[in-house]
Amino acid sequence: MAPVAVGSQDDHARDHTTAEQRIGMATSVVMPLLEFGAMGYVTWVLCYKICFQYLINPSDDRLPLRQSTGIALIVVYAILLLMLLVPWLRLLQVIWTRPDELQPSSSSTTEKKDADPSAIEQYDAYVCDYEGVPLFCEKCRVFKPDRTHHCKELGRCVRKMDHYCPWAGGIIAETTHKSFMQFVFYAALYTTYLWLVVAIFLAENASKIGSRPGTWIGALVVGVLFCIFTFTMTCMTGYNLAINYTSVEAIQRGGITNIAFLITKMPNQQASLPSPPTPPTPSTNVDNKQTEADDDWPVLRIVQRYNDRTFVVMQTKPFQHPWSATLMEGWKDTMGNTVIDWFIPLRNSPCKQRSRSGEFRWGEVVYDMAAKYQRDTGAELALLEGRR
Ligand SMILES: [Zn+2]
Repeated sequence: MAPVAVGSQDDHARDHTTAEQRIGMATSVVMPLLEFGAMGYVTWVLCYKICFQYLINPSDDRLPLRQSTGIALIVVYAILLLMLLVPWLRLLQVIWTRPDELQPSSSSTTEKKDADPSAIEQYDAYVCDYEGVPLFCEKCRVFKPDRTHHCKELGRCVRKMDHYCPWAGGIIAETTHKSFMQFVFYAALYTTYLWLVVAIFLAENASKIGSRPGTWIGALVVGVLFCIFTFTMTCMTGYNLAINYTSVEAIQRGGITNIAFLITKMPNQQASLPSPPTPPTPSTNVDNKQTEADDDWPVLRIVQRYNDRTFVVMQTKPFQHPWSATLMEGWKDTMGNTVIDWFIPLRNSPCKQRSRSGEFRWGEVVYDMAAKYQRDTGAELALLEGRR
């Protein structure tokens, strides 16, 4: 069962609004409004001032009449504008319905030992602390599903959080990542077209009649600035999606992750003790282990958890991302399996589909860890049974 998501009407008692949250909320409304204003301005410049007044109906005799060029430029502009607006409105619609936010505990004093881990421990494997307990958010007082991160602007935990983006209008996370990618991509196309058209006719106008209208220069500046910004975001977001990292995970790259694997057949007697017998290791001490073989994953302990299920807790090596994927796998996981899905913002990402194996599809390294443990101890792990 997936953790309960909150509705837009939710007014939880613990949802104290801090200054940071108020600023975050205000900017995520103000920025899109400013951008809509800027779009109105550049539309007026490109369609009316350049296409109509300069090309279709020029007042200066030195300028040729170019009706079909003017109309064609307006039509292409309208198509690009529509391609930008559809994913953006879809993105805003999803942001406002808040499907990725977790409901905080009803009590601000809920202790970790009293919180309900069953939604996370139902899986064959999950990310945990050194004791095999799922990760706990000290602010929301709830257990966090894998890849969930606490967003300070929202004051809540967010599933597969990427970043809080006031430019786009709110949180970019599990459900919004796909439309965000489409939004920045189409915005890069739209702004490229905008500044190219303005620049070409600005240069022509200057050489033919020596005129450089300030409104045209304004539209050129807006176009170039937003083009640089959205093109950079398109590359960064696309790259992170391809390697299946969120922005949060990319910042934390190089760390280690503890993973609990459900045991279906206990290990042989001698092998059942953790080996090597390393005590819980602070992450800062892990650097000196880098010389060990890549597949020598530390076994931290065996624990009994919810419903008497037994888990073995293992630790990845630094830089081993538990959800790493090949480039196309990572991309398809969020953007969809067909090329049409990549460009049309209708369907949800495939990564929202849960299986018994984990909150998200595990990377090969996690299966390798499970296989190594089985080989070494004679135990059987549910994760590998599920894969057969
Ligand atoms: Zn939280």
